[in-house]
This record gives sequence, structure tokens and C-alpha cells, in this order.
Amino acid sequence: MIEPRPELSKLSDYVPGKSIEEIREQYGLKKIVKLASNENPLGASPKAVEAFHQIADCLHLYPRGDAPTLIRAIAQKYGVKTEQIVVGNGSDEIIDMVGKAFIRQGDNCVGITPTFSVYKFTTLSNGAEFIGVGEGDAKTSLDDLAKAIDSKTRVAFICNPNNPTGTYYTESEIREFLKKVPQNVLVFLDEAYSEFATAADYPNMFSALDEHPNLFINRTFSKIYGLAGLRIGYAIASTDVVRHLWKVKPPFDVNQAAQVAAIAALDDAAHVEATRKMNAEGIEVLTREFTALGFKVLPTQANFICVKIGERARELVSFLERNGMIVRGLTSFGMPEYIRVTIGKPEENEFLVMLVKKWKAEA
Ligand SMILES: *Cc1c(COP(=O)(O)O)cnc(C)c1O
Repeated sequence: MIEPRPELSKLSDYVPGKSIEEIREQYGLKKIVKLASNENPLGASPKAVEAFHQIADCLHLYPRGDAPTLIRAIAQKYGVKTEQIVVGNGSDEIIDMVGKAFIRQGDNCVGITPTFSVYKFTTLSNGAEFIGVGEGDAKTSLDDLAKAIDSKTRVAFICNPNNPTGTYYTESEIREFLKKVPQNVLVFLDEAYSEFATAADYPNMFSALDEHPNLFINRTFSKIYGLAGLRIGYAIASTDVVRHLWKVKPPFDVNQAAQVAAIAALDDAAHVEATRKMNAEGIEVLTREFTALGFKVLPTQANFICVKIGERARELVSFLERNGMIVRGLTSFGMPEYIRVTIGKPEENEFLVMLVKKWKAEA
């Protein structure tokens, strides 16, 4: 028998949002709206789609694994050195690379919970322990996270804004935390949703990189840039940290379609702005509607809202699915009474509200 590494027995499968095909097969529906995976409802930037088509003649060629043009574009946009940047096959792969480069058997990693499951997955699969600080929908203080750090801690994960709650930490909260953290603990700041944040005190942490060589900022093209299907993310940190990641990075992980589309998407400010505007309006509408229906909506800085439905949350999720609306139940996040809803186009949000009203009326 082929024995797997013992760490694998601790891992549970990632639970993704249901796909449109799955629901179509299950219920034979024509109209299906997916507001479950925080994808951009406007799609990718038209400039990125154009770049994608143009690369079709080069499918026989290997990509440049070092993605020099994209990295230069990112460096220029954020005023950092190219040596401070690494790219990956989605930022999920960057989390994986951090695990390979820094997490050893017997170590631990700490993180604010509930949160994105990939941090724990990477920690456990590298033979370390994951210490989650916080539960439910209350914002956990970063002081409590700092207190959980001990001599075995390698990485502190902070998702900002947090998936699935939408909660955020301010610049002063994060800077205070950075002061308390030992230099040998990597502070993994996941900013997958940062481009959606509108709060005046939502941080710009690039300015702290020089001062804190253990700060690691993770970003993605999957969310506001609408390239989730192409798989491309990047991280910005100190050259010293980034250097180690290049060693564990698979050489051709970021394909050329992803690279050219990402370069074009970065340059499409109009698409980003349109997405932000529609998102802000959608948050307002959905928050107002769910609140009027008697549900608690957590304040959000991301492209989703987290809503407390109560004991019947799972029932609502399956009612919505049967009627062609996919949202994310949060049982796998340890929040069984909540759902997470990606902000859609106005008509998609209306469709959701109509169905929730129908469900409530029938109950
Ligand atoms: C969606 C998401 C990502 C992005 O993952 P990709 O692999 O880049 O698609 C990263 N972190 C969090 C918290 C997310 O929700």
C-alpha cells in the first residue's frame, strides 16, 4: 500500500462555492446566478480579454516563468522594486510557496479566525499547527493575535478585509501589531479584496515594507480584476523574503495568457472604477434589503456581505439553489448561521432579494 505523509490525515477538502454547471445539472434550470465565489460580475476587463485573444498564436511556447513585464508593471504601479515581487498561479499558490519556504514540521502559524481556509490547509500540510484566534462575527483584536505568537510561530495570517466577514483592520492597528511581532515571524497580510475597500482608514501598507522586512502583502487578479479563471496572483515583500519564494516556485506556473491579461487589466483603470462603483452601490442596496427583512448584515469593505440568517441558513442556501441562485453557506468556515453573498449586478441583487422575500413568506 502507498502510505501518504501523516500530515494528510489532518486535512479536510477545500469546500468551494457551487458552480453554475453543478446547479444546472442538479435542478435542470435555465437561469442561474452565482454570487458565491466573489468573482467580478462585470467579468474581466475588455482590455484583458483582447490581450488574451492575441496570445492565441503563441500557445506552443513556454511562458517566461519570471514574468518580467508583469512584474515591472506591478513595481511601477506600487512604487516598489521588482526584486520585491513574486507571482504565482493564483495567490493560493503564493500561500503554498510560503508554506514550502518557511513552515517546518513542529512549527505553528497563527491567524485571525474565522477566515479563508487555505492558511490552515498550508500550515497543516507542512506539519505545523494552526492556532486560530477569534470566533463568530466579532472583530478580533490584533493584540490577541500577537499574544498567541510563541517561539514556534512562523507565520501570522491576517486577511484584510477578512473573508468571510468583510471586517477590516486600520493602518494604525496593523502598524501596532507589526511593532509587537518578532522579526522572525512572517506577517502574511492577505489583501485579496483591498481594491474594493472604501473606508478612509483602510490601510496602504506598502509604505511599511521598508521598515518591516517580515511584512508580506498578498494580492490577486482574481477579484477586482476579474481573472479568477486564469489563476494569477502576486505578493510584495522584502527582497530577502521574496528571494526564498522564487526557489520553491514552480518554473512555469504562471501561464502566458494570465501574464498578458494581468498586464492589460492593471492598465484598465476604467474597469476597476466601474467595478468599485457598482460594488459600493450593491452593498448599499443589499444591506438595506436584508436589514429590512430582519437579518443582521456585517459591515463590509469587500465585494461580498456576510449575513446572519440564523438556524435556517442552510435551508435558505438550498432554497436559493433550487431557484437558480448560488450563495455561499458558511458552515465550512465555522459560521453555520451565516451566508456570504457576492455583490452582483443590480438585476442579480434584485433577483436574490426577491427570492429571499419569497422564502421568508413561505416559511
Ligand atoms: C479569493 C481569495 C484569494 C485569491 O485566490 P486566488 O488563488 O488568487 O484566486 C486569496 N485570499 C483570499 C482571502 C481570497 O478570498
